[in-house]
Amino acid sequence: MATRPASRQRKTGSASAAAKGSHHHQQPQSGSPTSTTTTTTSSSRLTPELSLDGPASPLFAGLDEDPVPKENVTVTVRFRPLSPREIRQGEEVAWYADGDTVVRSEQHPNVGYAYDRVFAPTTTTRHVYDVAAQHVVSGAMEGVNGTIFAYGVTSSGKTHTMHGDQRSPGIIPLAVKDAFSIIQETPNREFLLRVSYLEIYNEVVNDLLNPAGQNLRIREDPQGTFVEGIKEEVVLSPAHALSLIAAGEEHRHVGSTNFNLLSSRSHTIFTLTIESSPCGESNEGEAVTFSQLNLIDLAGSESSRAETTGVRRKEGSYINKSLLTLGTVISKLTDGKATHIPYRDSKLTRLLQSSLSGQGRVSLICTVTPASSNSEETHNTLKFAHRAKCIEIQASQNK
Ligand code: ADP
Ligand code: MG
Repeated sequence: MATRPASRQRKTGSASAAAKGSHHHQQPQSGSPTSTTTTTTSSSRLTPELSLDGPASPLFAGLDEDPVPKENVTVTVRFRPLSPREIRQGEEVAWYADGDTVVRSEQHPNVGYAYDRVFAPTTTTRHVYDVAAQHVVSGAMEGVNGTIFAYGVTSSGKTHTMHGDQRSPGIIPLAVKDAFSIIQETPNREFLLRVSYLEIYNEVVNDLLNPAGQNLRIREDPQGTFVEGIKEEVVLSPAHALSLIAAGEEHRHVGSTNFNLLSSRSHTIFTLTIESSPCGESNEGEAVTFSQLNLIDLAGSESSRAETTGVRRKEGSYINKSLLTLGTVISKLTDGKATHIPYRDSKLTRLLQSSLSGQGRVSLICTVTPASSNSEETHNTLKFAHRAKCIEIQASQNK
């Protein structure tokens, strides 16, 4: 594997969808051997009614919203254990996993929600990665855009799941390592990886890799949406990529008196942009594929009704609006119908539009605590997850 300098300046956007033969971003490379292979792969994931028409169907031409096969979106729930403090305080388990259904303890025996997978408190992040993230990462390395979200109230385990720590690395470090392993295992292609890291706070986009990059604009061109002026760094090793995240986290401290509070009030998006082409290809420009892998630690989803001060209320209303929009966008994507998808209603969905539409893979990981004192907020998270992708409870799961 060899890396080479970026051959294009602006890679953000739906270039990978173009390389995959997306309906309206047709580009010359859509007929290349590479993209044909990948199109076959993604076709095998299509629902029956969609495969009849195929991704390049004229039926869909001209629609500005691509339907997404339901299988491309996975929604999972991850329980964290009760913390030592919660145990000391006599907290009880209010919700628990019964197979891939989450049910409420005895007082509400009929309340239950099914998901693609429910992870018990003892499950390792490594296992969560294997089930809910690995396919998104490998897809991105093959040219299919991918997005992984951690959604949940503050202290439910979003950052533990996405970032983790030395003892228990999160999905971001695991994905970065995996990406470089895949490069090692793919000697017939050469790759160029770049990272960017941004935060959205009160609907303002700030570049975490560049302290001067504040209040950046989201722009649109025929290839999709992109953040104007965002710093992208070429990365040559997992350690290099992870050191950039660590530096980005330092930048989040700028101007904040309470880092924990800030971190629960902003969304962070770590993006790996992957450019690859066959080794030794003479007509390189035509065979290059682009894709993006977005790894997102969302703002805390707790309701802001109790907030009394103006600043906190304002933050809360922005968060509510962007998370509500995200829920609507994902549920519209999973219902498979090409109706209007309101990407534009929040910065978060707008800048992810290119990745979420087309054949992009999405994994929504909802983190919850079983603790009884959080029972209602957990219920809100479970409803959000269920709305994002409606899964029927299997009779055998519903005791
Ligand atoms: P959030 O980012 O949602 O606010 P954190 O990830 O910071 O929450 O988690 C809150 C606390 O719970 C942290 O101390 C974290 O280490 C711990 N924690 C979260 N999820 C788990 C888990 N699955 N297993 C063990 N500890 C966890
Ligand atoms: Mg956090």
